[in-house]
Amino acid sequence: MKPIIGISGGHLIDSGGRFPGYKRAYVNDDYVQSVVKAGGIPYIIPVVDDEAVIEQQIQQLDGLILSGGDDVSPLLYGEEPLTKLGPTSPERDAFDKLLIKYAIDQKKPILAICRGVQILNVAFGGSLYQDLSYKEEANIRHDQYSRTDMPTHNVIIHEDSKLFAILGRSALVNSFHHQAIKCVAEGFKVTATARDGVIEAIEKEGEDYVVGVQWHPEMMAAKIPTMLALFRNFVEEALRRKAFV
Ligand code: MN
Repeated sequence: MKPIIGISGGHLIDSGGRFPGYKRAYVNDDYVQSVVKAGGIPYIIPVVDDEAVIEQQIQQLDGLILSGGDDVSPLLYGEEPLTKLGPTSPERDAFDKLLIKYAIDQKKPILAICRGVQILNVAFGGSLYQDLSYKEEANIRHDQYSRTDMPTHNVIIHEDSKLFAILGRSALVNSFHHQAIKCVAEGFKVTATARDGVIEAIEKEGEDYVVGVQWHPEMMAAKIPTMLALFRNFVEEALRRKAFV
């Protein structure tokens, strides 16, 4: 049996076509294909607001991927919105926080990507830069115009991390974020940084498998074996823990 991997969904609002303004439940296909390639069974988890439903959504899974999306509301980490904040989605903030809560309660492995790592950090009490221009030393382009599957900047990976075992000392990554982690949540450690000091990955300390990256491995996994290896490691862990239940 392959492990069931849930991918947190978002909303897509039609901008034109026959139903302008119509709301759809969706995830980017790259997440789905990366899970299949890594040996998991992908399921899209649609955004809902009923906590009992969310608890049971998590019960069905062996692992949770927190996918990318809108900015996290700064109100969640005690800041007012600054001028360079992008669009936020309170509905999704609330949903993701409950997914995280129940995944941790039920000891399901988590792989958090881009917005995913940001909401993960905030859910545990950390904070974000609302825009990287608010971080003085951040002089690397973190919102690249190159293709989605093209890595553009280096990250330095810290020893004694799951990421180090998968990727080694450094990796080239793509970059589609304008926010980043400011204060790391208690109980988490930084596991990768860009050369301008921007935090690019964190992991939860202790027994839980909770790995977050600021880049988009799912967009590179079809081409770059090390990025697929990140998904493989996560899917293998989901399978290992499933076997113990
Ligand atoms: Mn970056």
